[in-house]
Amino acid sequence: MQIESIDVYQVDLPYSGGVYHLSGGRTYSEFDATVVRLVTDDGLEGWGESTPFGPNYIAAHARGVRAGIEEMADSLLGCDPRHVDRVNETMDRSLVGHNHAKTAIDVACWDLFGKAVDMPVCDLLGGSTNASMNLISSIHAGDPEDMRQRVAEYRDRGYKGHSVKIGAPQSEGGPSLDATRIEQALADAENDEFYIVDGNGGLAAEHMLRVLNLVPSGLDFVLENPCETWRENLSLRRRSNIPMFFDELADGDEAIIRAIADDAVDGIGLKISTSGGLTRGRRHRDMCLAAGLPVSVQATTGSEIAFAALAHLGQTVPPDMLRCVLDSSDMVTTQIAEFDANVSNGEATVSETPGLGIQVDRSVLGEPTASYS
Ligand SMILES: [Mg+2]
Repeated sequence: MQIESIDVYQVDLPYSGGVYHLSGGRTYSEFDATVVRLVTDDGLEGWGESTPFGPNYIAAHARGVRAGIEEMADSLLGCDPRHVDRVNETMDRSLVGHNHAKTAIDVACWDLFGKAVDMPVCDLLGGSTNASMNLISSIHAGDPEDMRQRVAEYRDRGYKGHSVKIGAPQSEGGPSLDATRIEQALADAENDEFYIVDGNGGLAAEHMLRVLNLVPSGLDFVLENPCETWRENLSLRRRSNIPMFFDELADGDEAIIRAIADDAVDGIGLKISTSGGLTRGRRHRDMCLAAGLPVSVQATTGSEIAFAALAHLGQTVPPDMLRCVLDSSDMVTTQIAEFDANVSNGEATVSETPGLGIQVDRSVLGEPTASYS
């Protein structure tokens, strides 16, 4: 079985909530998605996606995904997509780093692998736990009362996980506003809910400490990657008793090894879109489990294709170690594919459909922006 052709598509995915506000004054209203279709010599097709949040979120950008694929394409033709480790070695030999470009190819290989052996990707990744996975909301930073209302809307939809974004510039209210955001977002918290307070690497440790000093005691949440750098987060961790998760900083093998060695975190948000896809995601899952670190499984964002990939990985994490998965497709208004999964009442379970279990609507994709064969 060989990869015979690679088609690359570009799709704009509008944010479903209007304008997404993140720490540092960053805003997003649309996400630039790259979708890849691999076709093999026996006529099977596999799909993958990589959708960075925006070029000023982490060191990943949408045009870089497509340029990276162009760099790697020739070396991928002829590879057996079922040999996922060999495919990743091939990509690494063609292009150092740029894991966000490798994600789309890697995920498409896993889709092909599953279709080739008539098994769902989660079974190839170790086997489904068959447990319902809690979905997590993404509550962008805004007016505290509005954030409380948005959490309530997701609660009404059955969501038990909530990612509450903070990071108010001093001119807009600074730590005081962020403390009120946390207090309001958690005002109606229920015992079975899980809250992330997420700074997305945009806060000074000093800002975060001031927020924590202002927040009423007894609220149950974890901090997620509040500061940009390793040193700042570690410094903050030493001076706070709030559990710490990394996601933006946990972007590869080296980072996760270091997080464990430094005892820098209490959990990891696995973002397979930034770490290179499911082959590396599988490894990172196992490293976290071996270290006793709970995980959430997320993407930067994306369509049903991105969601399918992370849902299959999440489905292999023992339930007591899985905090939540992100339904990225809930964040965007454009539907690219049907994902054969049970997604309802704030929970998700993948199906037995071979591969990722997706049916892509080619009419949404238009013509490829590039093809390699
Ligand atoms: Mg985060």
